[in-house]
Amino acid sequence: MRSFTFKGGIHPPEHKDLSENYKIEKAFPSTKLVSIPVTQGGAPNQPLVKVGDLVSRGQKIAQSDAFMSAPVHSSISGVVKKIEMRPVAGNMDSLCIVIEDDGSDRTDFMEPLNPENCTKEEALARIREAGIVGMGGAAFPTHVKLNPPKDKKIKYILGNAAECEPYLTIDYRTILESSEKIIDGLFIEMKITEAEQGIIVLEDNKKNCLPILQTAIEKLGYKDSMSVVLVKTKYPQGGEKSIVKAVLKKEIPAGKLPADVGCVISNIGTMCAISEAFREGKPLIDRALTLSGGACQTQKNVVVPIGTLISDLIPEVITLDKNVKKIISGGPMMGFSCANTSFPVVKNTSGVTFLTEKEADLNPEGICIGCGRCVKACPIRLTPVMMIRELKANNIESAKKYGLMDCIECGCCSYVCPGNVKLVQRFRMGKQTVRNLMQNKTGSK
Ligand code: SF4
Ligand code: SF4
Repeated sequence: MRSFTFKGGIHPPEHKDLSENYKIEKAFPSTKLVSIPVTQGGAPNQPLVKVGDLVSRGQKIAQSDAFMSAPVHSSISGVVKKIEMRPVAGNMDSLCIVIEDDGSDRTDFMEPLNPENCTKEEALARIREAGIVGMGGAAFPTHVKLNPPKDKKIKYILGNAAECEPYLTIDYRTILESSEKIIDGLFIEMKITEAEQGIIVLEDNKKNCLPILQTAIEKLGYKDSMSVVLVKTKYPQGGEKSIVKAVLKKEIPAGKLPADVGCVISNIGTMCAISEAFREGKPLIDRALTLSGGACQTQKNVVVPIGTLISDLIPEVITLDKNVKKIISGGPMMGFSCANTSFPVVKNTSGVTFLTEKEADLNPEGICIGCGRCVKACPIRLTPVMMIRELKANNIESAKKYGLMDCIECGCCSYVCPGNVKLVQRFRMGKQTVRNLMQNKTGSK
């Protein structure tokens, strides 16, 4: 079978072998505490509980009236101990509800809902009520993604199983262990959007998953409307623009969304969560993730209640090397660097990577030698060298003209730069500056 691809991109060492053979194991540390951020994607939520309240697993504990929001549920049964600002990934603080497990295992799930005979509105309401957000990236509320404006006809649902980030293997394990759930979630997304085709997209380093998914498709009776395609193993193959270009041969124009070219892209973890929300009435309260990196002595794939602190998993679940030099929530290319392990697993935590000095890029920033490698590596054909020149000269408007706001922050340019110019870090900051300026403008009107 042919593998499709896109122009640009890089081939960083994969390091998947560290964890890919470990089954997803259930873990919950003996501290029996979770620290659940009140907002995990979409507009800010407000707590629905107070300190001292008894809560059940699956009970809604925070929500917002805004359409672009997703409620948050308790991932354990227990007592609300605190509601306070606490550290989350990326060295930030966020309002969290701290719950202590009472050992009762009380659940408060919704009634199952048959996707075959419910209306589109009921299905979207179920996805929203279950608090489902994109689990592979930006935690965008899924009920919004599956309900694009009427003039945007959705023809394809792409199941994103590329998992192009080095070290991460949780999508791979999910395919091996829950392939039918993925296909069921894909069916539900197709039913809601009336998409004609569902396509699961795999990098060709996961060829062994192809027959597993094909068997699940056949068993569930979707042979005529679903397929599995292979794409080349290349970073950032899982990015929305790259995957659409590789599989559908379409360009998502700058500033536009996949829906503008007739498709919706969902991570396969999100598809499993959708299936559980319908078949079991279960909200999104557990998260499967990879714990890996050269500084992790016991790489694993685990599933934990959302809100579990990474620090509580050490050393009960994983053991770290003394020389951990970098902790990243996510993979090394697009993850968030964290000062320590005191942050909770949230809905879009696909992994935590612990790097040694050799693996982490800790060299000081150098200077541009004008080699042009960054231009060749950029998967969306920007000119990073020009963007960085303009940003360094404080010409933010000019950097925008070179496509600053279209940068997907994949880090390919930084990876190939022989001058060790901190390109992606500066682009992130530049984009934030633009957003702040826009906010100030709107606020002063
Ligand atoms: S890769 Fe680095 S050194 Fe080469 S042109 Fe780009 S910024 Fe300059
Ligand atoms: S970080 Fe931005 S500029 Fe750099 S390669 Fe990725 S998309 Fe291009």
